[in-house]
Amino acid sequence: GVPEVPARPIAERRVSRQIQVGPVAVGGGAPVSVQSMTTTRTSDIGATLQQIAELTASGCQIVRVACPTQDDADALSTIARKSQIPVIADIHFQPKYVFAAIEAGCAAVRVNPGNIKQFDDKVKEIARAAKDHGTPIRIGVNAGSLDRRLLQKYGKATPEALVESALWEASLFEEHDFRDIKISVKHNDPVIMIEAYKQLAAQCDYPLHLGVTEAGPAFQGTIKSAVAFGALLSQGIGDTIRVSLSAPPAEEVKVGLQILESLNLKQRRLEIVSCPSCGRAQVDVYKLADEVTAGLEGMEVPLRVAVMGCVVNGPGEAREADLGVASGNGKGQIFVKGEVIKTVPESKIVETLIEEAMKIAEQMEQDGAAS
Ligand code: SF4
Repeated sequence: GVPEVPARPIAERRVSRQIQVGPVAVGGGAPVSVQSMTTTRTSDIGATLQQIAELTASGCQIVRVACPTQDDADALSTIARKSQIPVIADIHFQPKYVFAAIEAGCAAVRVNPGNIKQFDDKVKEIARAAKDHGTPIRIGVNAGSLDRRLLQKYGKATPEALVESALWEASLFEEHDFRDIKISVKHNDPVIMIEAYKQLAAQCDYPLHLGVTEAGPAFQGTIKSAVAFGALLSQGIGDTIRVSLSAPPAEEVKVGLQILESLNLKQRRLEIVSCPSCGRAQVDVYKLADEVTAGLEGMEVPLRVAVMGCVVNGPGEAREADLGVASGNGKGQIFVKGEVIKTVPESKIVETLIEEAMKIAEQMEQDGAAS
């Protein structure tokens, strides 16, 4: 039960300046944080806070809320005050809502310069208000709403165009001595997105918010985001992430956390090491893996549980894990920390694994509390 040797990190993190989004540090070596965005009407304070509570429970660390109307702007102060995690107001089109969000005590404000007319003229006032309130600004450039000037210059939303837009807007803030900034340059094509962030990372030291925009429904969006974030994070690029899915936001958080865990940027929690099954399998591996996963859902301790279909690799993997089963002959050999502790009939495999997992988890928590 002693904590394992710290997992090998995927890469040295890029050196970036640090900003504070409420209590969450972003950049400057702080852990990569996971964000999502509510899908409720922000003006419906109850529903929005309810969804934020669900997101918080699923592990979300920063939440963004849209603010398209005055009613939404009016709701921000209550939401910012009552949310358990920092709230970022997402502003398009209307600079007046930027000021409202800052006044309301939002932890940060996301602006999309491409979508705010005469934004450049407003920067001075925004910088002053944000500075007065200690509110960071995310400059969120998006391929779908690129500045018209840059669209003309580059013909389309190329990596260079996205980066130029972001750095231009940042420079306007810098003129007013405002550097409490993070930047995103989102595109729906992971290849363009990756290139844009690489260029941006090389040209500034602002913390970066990663996102593949309009990534699609859950399956496609998960893969696009995992591939793009993996490519960037494996080069140390990225300080906070948002997986965009056409799916409930708690799913985005689940995927985001799993990406960070896969790259050792977050301590792994439950990890099911299950085989793909093959012609040798002596048990329904998919069903077994699903049942064990469901039975252990929500477990916070890092636990590797091996679910193996036969005795070829079964005992080896089961021994490497904290806990495991190797099936054969209508029975399951249950391993704990490399030792076979018992052999149970197939019908008892799931409940035995869950029972043993709970015991190990309890022990880990006690050891954790003691140290
Ligand atoms: Fe096939 Fe056995 Fe390997 Fe599973 S553990 S993939 S059943 S050989």
